[in-house]
Amino acid sequence: MTYEELWQNSLAQIEPGVSKPSFTTWFKDTRVLDLSEGIATIGVPNGFAKEWLENKYHKFILKSLRNCVPEIRSINYVISAQESGKYEAMQQKNKFKKDIALSGEQLEFKDFHVDPITKLNPKYTFDNFVVSSFNDLAHAAALAVIKNLGKAYNPLFIYGGVGLGKTHLIQAIGNSVKNNDSQKKVQYITSEKFANETVSSIQNNTISSFKDKYRNFDLLIVDDIQFFAGKIRTQEEFFWTFNTLYDAGKQVVFSSDRPPQSIIDIEERLRSRLEVGMIVDISSPDYETRLAILKSKCQEKHVDLPLKTLEIIAENIEKNIRELEGALNLIFMQSQHKNRVLEENEVKFILNKNSKPKTSINPSQIIKIVSELYDIPEKLMYERTRKHEIVRPRQIAMYLIREDINGSFPSIGQKFGGRDHTTAMHAYFKIKEELKNNQKIIEEIKLIREKYQ
Ligand code: ADP
Ligand code: MG
Repeated sequence: MTYEELWQNSLAQIEPGVSKPSFTTWFKDTRVLDLSEGIATIGVPNGFAKEWLENKYHKFILKSLRNCVPEIRSINYVISAQESGKYEAMQQKNKFKKDIALSGEQLEFKDFHVDPITKLNPKYTFDNFVVSSFNDLAHAAALAVIKNLGKAYNPLFIYGGVGLGKTHLIQAIGNSVKNNDSQKKVQYITSEKFANETVSSIQNNTISSFKDKYRNFDLLIVDDIQFFAGKIRTQEEFFWTFNTLYDAGKQVVFSSDRPPQSIIDIEERLRSRLEVGMIVDISSPDYETRLAILKSKCQEKHVDLPLKTLEIIAENIEKNIRELEGALNLIFMQSQHKNRVLEENEVKFILNKNSKPKTSINPSQIIKIVSELYDIPEKLMYERTRKHEIVRPRQIAMYLIREDINGSFPSIGQKFGGRDHTTAMHAYFKIKEELKNNQKIIEEIKLIREKYQ
């Protein structure tokens, strides 16, 4: 199969799941440029398309590529000159007015460069980080760390759902430390990158220089630590790195999508290290905060949209700041394209087309469907029994309530016989983890969902 065939195959799978305008906007002039060591490189015409594919369609793209080539593990999106040439030609052909093209450019993300040494992106700062009750603890802890590097909260462990600002905050810590004192050795790394480096240094017999490199930092920031799960050798290497840094009074900062106790498949001794410092979470922003974030993004990107439009976006996109930003971009693009302010219903229409369909199902209905499928009396689902045949379906119901209708962990715990929120959390992550490779549960959950979606 050629790259071209691979990409055509994947696009054929992607297309039916994406609205037509989105598909033509974001997938036009994209192609597979390279495929090696499990990484597919996809060329895109501009930074805007890159941001969209990465943030909104990544999982979808990865899944369809994997259907063709199961070995693909990750995707690297690059802006490629050839594609951008085509894009410009297309713009000309469409006779985009010059001023539209120009103001469209303003919206593109400023061309920030990741620092080749620290791997920090200067676009993540405290100045453009909106603080409210959903993230104020994490923000305060971050400031404390900067003031008292290695001494205040060490390690600092920040966890929360996707797109809620973890990377932004931990990178802002790094940028701030570096700006205050350029002598400080700061390093940002994703846990996946650390794992890859571990593996290749073992293969290349360079483990000792690898060790030295990591033991030299004043501040080490490790993003998405949950990906260490199951990687024994990486955990081992990291454990020693962490100890050396920690014993020398150097600062370590982690992010994760869940708290340390919910990371399955991680060695106890490493887990206990993750827990010795400060653990703070970032939850979801409320409506007012979402609106404040939108206003701040508009300022940052010099975008002018009516307040009503921002309100509609804030009402419709609840869970994820990255999506909030994406929606803002999309609406702005469309109004630039039409060269006028969009009507309320146009904005709603665009948002609906690009968001997951909302189901109107409630938790009790989910519990009923699950108990029917597993053929157990519904009322047992609510009781505090530990019988295996009940525990399992109950965990599945908890998972679905969280995943599909965004139930909070405390409310789920409450619903199932007044349990603690950690029970609900544990159930959620357990099922989520199993869904990665347990075919049986994948099928079962699919069946349940068919009944209500
Ligand atoms: P995570 O790492 O938790 O998945 P990110 O840090 O990548 O999330 O954030 C997603 C997007 O939302 C980024 O563009 C980031 O700048 C923006 N963002 C997140 N939190 C805030 C905030 N509090 N104020 C302003 N922008 C934010
Ligand atoms: Mg992140």
